Amino acid sequence: MTTPPAIDGQQLVEQALPAIPLLDMNAMTDELGASLDALWQEVTTSGCFVGGPFVEQFEAAWAAYCERRYAVGVGNGTDALVLALRALGIGPGDEVIVPANTFVATVASVVATGAEPRFVDVDDATLLMTADAVEAACTSRTAAVIAVHLYGQPVDMDAIAALAARWGFAVVEDAAQAHGARWAGRRVGSLSDVACFSFYPGKNLGAFGDAGAVVTEDQQLATLVRSLADHGRPADDKHLHHVAGCNSRLDAIQAGVLLAKLPLLDAWNERRRLVAAAYRDALGDTSLRPLAASPAAESVYHQFVVRTSRRDTLRERLAQQGIATGVHYPVPCHQQLAFAAYAHEPLPVCERAAREIVSLPMYPHLWPDGIERVCDALRRVAVELEREDDGDTSMQPGRGVEVGGG
Ligand SMILES: *Cc1c(COP(=O)(O)O)cnc(C)c1O
Repeated sequence: MTTPPAIDGQQLVEQALPAIPLLDMNAMTDELGASLDALWQEVTTSGCFVGGPFVEQFEAAWAAYCERRYAVGVGNGTDALVLALRALGIGPGDEVIVPANTFVATVASVVATGAEPRFVDVDDATLLMTADAVEAACTSRTAAVIAVHLYGQPVDMDAIAALAARWGFAVVEDAAQAHGARWAGRRVGSLSDVACFSFYPGKNLGAFGDAGAVVTEDQQLATLVRSLADHGRPADDKHLHHVAGCNSRLDAIQAGVLLAKLPLLDAWNERRRLVAAAYRDALGDTSLRPLAASPAAESVYHQFVVRTSRRDTLRERLAQQGIATGVHYPVPCHQQLAFAAYAHEPLPVCERAAREIVSLPMYPHLWPDGIERVCDALRRVAVELEREDDGDTSMQPGRGVEVGGG
């Protein structure tokens, strides 16, 4: 007979609690309720599955939400970036400045146009691109800068705009993680020549599949993006092809889902901010350091990121309590094999951060149920880590000393 492993009372209580995921999309879907059945019915009987009234309605609504004139629905966020860059005329011989701390799609979109990505390091407090780094990387070949509002926090777009005026490059926003965020009171999406959104299911505004949009104030640019995304056709003749385009159009069903969710986006972002405030409060001045929030930025907290030299231990101990975490991203883009040809120098802030960052559970419906449990666990682990750093190993779990008060 084998002896069952000893389980203490604390563990039993914890095992009975439901796991807290990094992201829970089901509560968002539940909030839409029966409107989804009506939508499904309407789209399936309309016979109009790509483009059409739902797509047009969503494009108008999304442009208005972003405080811009034009929004063009496309297949996904990566295509939005590629199409925006192509419409700006960017291609071989051009350089496009990108932060090394971003999702790889930002960089891959530049490579897809034939232009060269030029990596810059990020600010140590926010892990976002800075105007100083951009200026240092500018050359006569700099055609554009992609400002990535990573984790939901906007880049200082006033500083980037001032540089753009001086150097003459185009400014692109990668707003795939920042739907509804504001910089100095203005919406993300309205802070550049052209902004790109992803509506991948896990984003703050997510479809039930892949979807994206390009947002701009420039009518010609919007028309060109629409044409490029539709086999290079002009709007008024389906048998003419003026440019070699691609197929990256928005589906009616996705536009319908996005239209249904859009009225809830601000309230969902507000809940994310409440979760973030609770985290900041719980972490206080422990060794788990949240990223800084710039006073001019109204973040929508796509992720809530903390830094610690004990990253793996933190993740393990939270996992033991049923709390999931993530890392966005463990390998900076300039250290990815795919982009080795464009990595010319070390980017120390980025590289160090990649070893220290942890993304905590973040989704609207974590507030109010669930947030206290994560905060309690964080406080408890923070105290453990502090004691262990002070050399008092008697507090480590598994050494016969009970940890925390429950
Ligand atoms: C998700 C994401 C993209 C790509 O969007 P897809 O819809 O997945 O193609 C681009 N940039 C950033 C920062 C993202 O988070």
